[in-house]
Parts: sequence; C-alpha cells; structure tokens
Amino acid sequence: MPRLVMKFGGTSVATVERIRNVARHVKREVEAGYDVAVVVSAMAGKTNELVGWVKEAHAFYDSKEYDVVVASGEQVTSGLLAIALQEMGLKARSWQGWQIPIMTSDAHGSARIAAIDGTGIIKGFADAKEVAVVSGFQGVHQPTGRVTTLGRGGSDTSAVALAAAIQAERCDIYTDVDGVYTTDPRIVPKARRLDKVSYEEMLEMASLGAKVLQVRSVELAMMHRVPTYVRSSFDDPADPKLGTLICDEEDIMEQQVVTGIAYSRDEAQITLRDIADKPGIAASIFVPLADANINVDMIIQVVSDNAATTDLTFTVPTADYERACAILNSHRDEIAFKELQGATDVVKVSAIGVGMRSHAGVAARAFKALADKGINIRAITTSEIKFSVLIESAYTELAVRTLHSLYGLDQA
Ligand code: ADP
Ligand code: ASP
Ligand code: MG
Repeated sequence: MPRLVMKFGGTSVATVERIRNVARHVKREVEAGYDVAVVVSAMAGKTNELVGWVKEAHAFYDSKEYDVVVASGEQVTSGLLAIALQEMGLKARSWQGWQIPIMTSDAHGSARIAAIDGTGIIKGFADAKEVAVVSGFQGVHQPTGRVTTLGRGGSDTSAVALAAAIQAERCDIYTDVDGVYTTDPRIVPKARRLDKVSYEEMLEMASLGAKVLQVRSVELAMMHRVPTYVRSSFDDPADPKLGTLICDEEDIMEQQVVTGIAYSRDEAQITLRDIADKPGIAASIFVPLADANINVDMIIQVVSDNAATTDLTFTVPTADYERACAILNSHRDEIAFKELQGATDVVKVSAIGVGMRSHAGVAARAFKALADKGINIRAITTSEIKFSVLIESAYTELAVRTLHSLYGLDQA
C-alpha cells in the first residue's frame, strides 16, 4: 500500500468538531487505499498558553521542563483524533514522540530530529491497517530519556521527517489557507495562490518570515525530495483541492523573476557610532556576539572619509536584542564606540525568486518604488535568489504591497 503523511495545524484541530472534520479527511485517504500517518499540532492558542504558564512560573525556567509542559498540547489532540477516527469505524492509535521514537538532539526548545524509527507505525499498517496519529512538535533525547520540542511551528518538521522515514508517497500539510501565496494573504488581499513553488524559494520564504511552513521542514523536504503540498483543512472533505506543491525547480514551467514577498518583525537594529576604522574592529564586535549564540543578520559598515572613525549597523533577532546590547556595552573599552543606538520598531521585507539569478536590476527597482512612497531604507542585503530591506515597522504593509504590485504579483 502507498503511504501518506497528513499534517493538521492548530486552527484545523482547534475544537472537537474540527477534529471530527480532520477525521473525515483522513477517512477519505484511507478509503482511497493509503496507509496513513497523521501528524497533529496542539489546538490553536494552546502552545502560547503553555509557554505563558512556564514563564509565569519562573523567568529563568529549566528548558527541559519547558519542553515537558509545551509538548502536552499535542498529546491532547493526538488522543482526541484517534478517538474521532475510531468513532468513524477506523482503526487508529496515538503515538507520542518518545513512543515512536522520534529521536532528537538535546537542544531543548529547538531540538533537531536525528532519526525516526518508523517500525512500529509500519507494523500497525501491516498488521491492522491502523492509522497512526502522531503528536507533532515533540521528540525524545534518548541518552537522557527527556522529552524535547522542535521549536515553534515544529509540527511541520515532524510531518516531513516522518514522511521521509516511512517513505511516504507525499506529505500533505493542511492549514488555514489553501496553499502558499505570493505573500501573506492576511496582509495583502491581492496575493495569489501558487500552484507550485520550488524547494529553494520556499526555503527562503520561510527563513525570511512566511510562517506557513517551519524552515526546517522545507530543508528536510528538499534534502529527502519529499513532495509536499500545502492545502486547506477547511475544504469539503468530499471535494478537496490539492493546494500548492513544493517541488524541484525543474518541475515548474513558467518562472517569474520574483515569486514571493515575505516580511519578518523578528529583527532589531543596532548602530555603533564612531568606532575606530582599523583592522580587527569587526571581530571585536561580532566574536563576542557569536560566542553568545546571537545570530547577526544584516551588516552595513560606512566607509569613513576621515579614515579615523566609522559607523556600523547590524541586526539581531528581537529576542536577543537586550542581551546583544549588554554584551556590546560590556566590551565597550575594546570596541571603543562613542554611542550605541538601537531600534526594535523595524521590519525586514524581502523579495524572493530564482529568476533573480538571471535578471539584473531587480532590487534597484524596489529601492526606487519604496523611495517614491517615502519609505526610508535602513539596511539592505542581497543574495542569489533574494534581497531584503530593513525599514521602519509602521511601513510594513505599504512596503509589502508596493513590492507585490511592482513585480506583477497582484491578482487580476
Ligand atoms: P498552522 O497552525 O496550520 O501550522 P500557521 O499559522 O503556522 O498554520 O501558518 C499558516 C499561516 O501562514 C496563514 O494563516 C498565513 O497567514 C501565514 N502566511 C504567511 N505567509 C504566507 C504565504 N506566503 N502563503 C500562505 N500563508 C502565509
Ligand atoms: N504547537 C506548536 C506551536 O504552536 C507546534 C506547531 O503548531 O507546529 O508552535
Ligand atoms: Mg504552523
């Protein structure tokens, strides 16, 4: 029998009635002849609530116990879906991450999957045609036996990794939109649904803020060549649509220069004024940040005209902003900056498209269009298939819409 992995996100399992609707989708695929493993998220809002409780209990909480608490949301939905499937006359059982097991690293809160043993699930298919209902987001670090979680949005990664482990024909990610759009359809109503998007572009879109798929899930889909669909759980289970296929670039006939626009509020800007313009100064700034595991993203250094001092601007994830400022201030004597200026009211807006490899001037058009709208660009980065600009967050929607129209992505 061909195997299928179906994943349902938080909104799709938000109530028992919606879980029943999920069961109808699963039943359809079982009746079509698939051996099905379903991966579920916690009910919408549940993980946020659990994280809130942990933080309320202790500001500097133990990350191992954080995982114990936040993994519980998925335990509830996996059990409920198994019950709903049984009620429809199907054989089904729930699987927690540690039971399968889904083996991960010990990076609690953002663990990486090392391996999945699909034997038990496959045996359930063979012996009893039993649907496997798997709790997403969670795994186990076997040497310590402790429960781990994969980082926010991690159920997508559970699903793709499981699809690779059991050699599923494909992985269907059911969510609250009917596919991947040219940009977040919640902020641009004219966004268009894409029939297909390449692994590379989806990876960039996810890394640059399109939270429809967790970045790691796209990496795994690309690495193991898992055909992955993003589709809607709100479709009529009797008349479903396929949604968007994430696939090889070669399988996409018509390519736009720009495929999508993404934005991320998870950026904070730091500017160091009047630092010495001499060799080694960049290392004195970035080495202590790297040692503290702080990822620096965009970097701009101004070439000074007096050759004595210069300014340096860069961005860090919002969550690391306070820590980064504290580290820089503690190294103030070595770096010898006159002033540290920071801003958290910034957003990174990016355009992504494999067509940028072969077209010049794509980013330049954006700079002009944003300037025409009076939007000031604070930093720019470019790479082979994307460019990003850092702007004031008040202009997020205007900037995303402007670029979306500029590159001809608006729906007619
Ligand atoms: P789930 O709970 O099913 O995992 P998520 O909230 O994680 O769902 O992801 C789906 C959401 O991603 C959509 O509701 C949409 O607002 C957002 N999103 C952001 N960018 C895009 C995009 N380019 N295409 C589709 N959805 C997007
Ligand atoms: N429930 C987890 C979260 O909210 C995992 C997921 O939904 O993918 O982050
Ligand atoms: Mg998600």
